[in-house]
Amino acid sequence: MMNVDKIREDFPILKREVHGKPLVYFDNAATSQTPQIVIDAIADYYSNYNSNIHRGVHSLSQEATDKYEEARIKIQHHFNAKHAYEIILTSGTTDSINMVAAGFADILQKGDEIIVSALEHHSNIVPWQMLCTKTGAILKVIPMLQDGSLDMKVYEELLNSNTKLVFCNHVSNALGTINPIEEIIKKAHAVNAAVLIDGAQATPHIKPDVQALDVDFYVASAHKLCGPTGVGLLYGKQEWLEKLPPYQGGGEMIATVSFEKTTYAGLPHKFEAGTPNICGGIAFGVALDYMNSIGFSEIAAYEATLLEYATTELLKIDGVKIFGTTAHKTSVVSFNVADIHPYDIGTILDKLGIAVRTGHHCAQPIMDFYKIPGTIRASFSFYNTKEEIAIFITALKRAIQMFS
Ligand SMILES: *Cc1c(COP(=O)(O)O)cnc(C)c1O
Repeated sequence: MMNVDKIREDFPILKREVHGKPLVYFDNAATSQTPQIVIDAIADYYSNYNSNIHRGVHSLSQEATDKYEEARIKIQHHFNAKHAYEIILTSGTTDSINMVAAGFADILQKGDEIIVSALEHHSNIVPWQMLCTKTGAILKVIPMLQDGSLDMKVYEELLNSNTKLVFCNHVSNALGTINPIEEIIKKAHAVNAAVLIDGAQATPHIKPDVQALDVDFYVASAHKLCGPTGVGLLYGKQEWLEKLPPYQGGGEMIATVSFEKTTYAGLPHKFEAGTPNICGGIAFGVALDYMNSIGFSEIAAYEATLLEYATTELLKIDGVKIFGTTAHKTSVVSFNVADIHPYDIGTILDKLGIAVRTGHHCAQPIMDFYKIPGTIRASFSFYNTKEEIAIFITALKRAIQMFS
């Protein structure tokens, strides 16, 4: 069993107060908090071996290079990629998705079809729309059902020999739905379409195995995984990464340069132009070690108890409606109370020290589907407690009273 009290000691921020009240941080789906060991790794880098990587003969540069490449191997092992060079370090999920979309601009032709799910984050909708405008490809959408799951029957009908790409998030950030990605990948492969899975919201709760999934691309951000902002990964199968053209030109991504002709570096450097977020990459590796030391099955089991408790307590309150009610969910509750605007409740909760997110959660199409302006989203992490949920429920009741 997880020792949550001990784990909370690892997160200095959890000791702070907001408006004179102890912080209750329930905005983990937007970004997670950072354990001391990751903060120390960042300080250690800048205090002891800050240096540019790959190019230097001097000791600092070699130390930084070794640590950065060690981090890549940690990430490779965490996601069970076959090769370390299939892990491209990016600035995050959005960057990774744009990298793939830009690559496909050279591959797609007019009339090709791309399928996205109705549950996508804006960062997984807009790049494909831009790609379709550029290439003449057609964007199709897997519709969602009332419980916040995808209509898999329609998905099957959408697939055909023109389908070239399928994009879906592993877990919906707005609702917490865990999507049936195994099935989505299998069915896409049956028509020879490639699949990109957005794992930004899944990776804090689930340890994905990209080889077992047989997924073509998998992307995630370190900052939702106890790591720093500004770093993330693009996993791509070797054959795909070789097929796609480089994303950006610059240093580090070349083999040889002359004004007549430039040849590109091999993987992963072909996709890593310029000086990367060296410290961030190293800290990402440390964050994965930290989470693995707790254990992802322990994390998921504990978070499920938080979700169940919060759901039960919320449903006891008059007027509460929860959006996203599938059996397979991560620890996210997205809800509204009668016709009180989510923003008004969020503001009162903040005054009481409780951080939740309100609004459309970068997933406006989902809000349009439910015909609501947004929701209040409380998202729990393994360092949250039932006591915090009780504080939140009491505060919520107080907020509701103020508006009725
Ligand atoms: C957070 C999130 C993103 C965007 O991640 P960035 O780190 O902001 O690039 C994309 N998709 C989902 C599902 C997310 O939760």
